[in-house]
Amino acid sequence: MIPAPFSYRRVSTVDEALTVLGEHGDEAKVLAGGHSLLPLMKLRFATPEIVVDLAPIDELRYVRVERDTVAIGALTRYHDLHHDETLREHAPLLAHVAGAIGDQQVRHRGTIGGSLAHADAAADLPAALLASGGSLVVRGPGGQREIPADEFFLGPFTTPLEPDELVTEVRVPVATGIGWGFEKFTRRSIDWAIVGVAVLGQAVGLINMGGTPIRATATEEALASGASIVDAAALAADGASPVSEPHASAEYRGHLARVLTARALNTAAV
Ligand SMILES: Cc1cc2nc3c(=O)[nH]c(=O)nc-3n(C[C@H](O)[C@H](O)[C@H](O)COP(=O)(O)OP(=O)(O)OC[C@H]3O[C@@H](n4cnc5c(N)ncnc54)[C@H](O)[C@@H]3O)c2cc1C
Repeated sequence: MIPAPFSYRRVSTVDEALTVLGEHGDEAKVLAGGHSLLPLMKLRFATPEIVVDLAPIDELRYVRVERDTVAIGALTRYHDLHHDETLREHAPLLAHVAGAIGDQQVRHRGTIGGSLAHADAAADLPAALLASGGSLVVRGPGGQREIPADEFFLGPFTTPLEPDELVTEVRVPVATGIGWGFEKFTRRSIDWAIVGVAVLGQAVGLINMGGTPIRATATEEALASGASIVDAAALAADGASPVSEPHASAEYRGHLARVLTARALNTAAV
């Protein structure tokens, strides 16, 4: 449970971070909240030679509305997202989901950029970003690019990010007044979801229903064709490949997806 030896560098600007990443390539790992990276290092699943601590980069902590888009700095912590009045008004699904992650300690350290870059299918914000039709702004040596959330989660813990790129911003369309719902089934209140569902309007994101966060496309298509919530939610697990493990079989996860989708859609419709 002790990490392999590594060197440590604190950086205070995005440019400085990119310079250090450029020098070290895939021997470097950036540290945001550390709540996924440090456990991985302790288990020696991650053995970076250099850890680049982004904590001092205050320029990546913000929530602001730019015309019809809500822009969120990648280092904004869950606690701050949950309590941000701008986010609560214009992207209430994300604000709510941020407040449902882990416990107080996790919410005071974990960052939106870290959660998305980590790309854990069991995490909450990736599915909420999918349902929100969001995107990620990424900076690297070649400049800046914007990746739609639908194209970001390629496989378990796998994204199109290059080792010398940083997620700098998360963007979602303003969703003021659009109905939303979030359901998370856990063994204990602070746990990761066995299955979770994030709904915005008629968009449905599923947590822990496969190797990546996914959209419940069959449900979304049924809703778009005028199906009832009951009939559309019955399709929530169609096309999903949830795993079976000691806490939940794939069949049970499918059942949860259908029930939780119906609940979240009903909440969104009120
Ligand atoms: C006890 C516990 C309970 C938890 N419960 C939940 C839960 O219920 N729901 C949930 O969703 N999550 C949960 N988590 C995970 C938590 O949300 C993590 O904080 C999150 O997965 C990673 O965010 P971070 O800011 O801590 O990133 P870090 O751990 O610092 O980094 C994670 C990975 O992303 C990379 N990275 C970080 N920031 C960037 C960036 N800006 N650009 C490029 N790469 C970057 C790092 O190099 C690393 O590979 C829990 C964690 C713990 C320890």
